[in-house]
Amino acid sequence: MYVEPTPARYRRGMPHILVLEDDPQVRQALLRALAERGYATSSAGAGLPGLREALHDRPDLVLLDLGLPDVDGREVLRMLRAVSRVPVIVATARDDEAEIVRALDAGADDYLVKPFGAAQLDARIRAVLRRAADTGGRPPVLRVGGLVLDIAARTATVDGRAMELTPREFDLLRYLAERPGQVVSKRELLAEVWRQPYGGADKTVDVHLSWLRRKLGETAQAPRYLHTVRGVGVRLTAPATEDPTGSPGGAT
Ligand code: CA
Repeated sequence: MYVEPTPARYRRGMPHILVLEDDPQVRQALLRALAERGYATSSAGAGLPGLREALHDRPDLVLLDLGLPDVDGREVLRMLRAVSRVPVIVATARDDEAEIVRALDAGADDYLVKPFGAAQLDARIRAVLRRAADTGGRPPVLRVGGLVLDIAARTATVDGRAMELTPREFDLLRYLAERPGQVVSKRELLAEVWRQPYGGADKTVDVHLSWLRRKLGETAQAPRYLHTVRGVGVRLTAPATEDPTGSPGGAT
């Protein structure tokens, strides 16, 4: 008889992975593979118990099967994202690009297409946890002109006005604000912000950029912060007419 590994709340020092998977054989195989690699684990076989577990147990990462019996995995992700920034890797049964894009847009950090091996699972988990830990070492506040991003709180203001941003919009704005004045290609944004190694979904970036523009109070025709460089990419800069140092002019 297989005994599930000790829940994370009883162990210390190892990343805790919460596995949401309805197939008991797959679930136990995942738990076994994770435990063998030193992770603490817990699991649930359906969306709502999993959501409860995620909020109660505060895992370091959630491995989320999209096909769950009670609530669709993407719905679980949306509910989770409303209250938590815990890293999430989604597992999809088939290599359906549209489904993967929807999951990433809903706030997933990465994805795996079933069947996947334990080594790949481990590598993805380590990469996602590394990125999550990275945020601790960076400056907590980014400023570009009148735009201020609070990285820890994941909030942004422009000219003192709060911006209502989706998780993806925040990630996009943050990626650009970390590289002020630098032209960033859509391919790079797809790879780094959307974690899409394949191209072909430039429209996704365009749509999010236009939403960001609206929230920044500007248009593509009259940009202040977001400047499109045709055929190359996009650049975030402080508006030229604003002088954030407030230095007096006309000095000798
Ligand atoms: Ca399933």
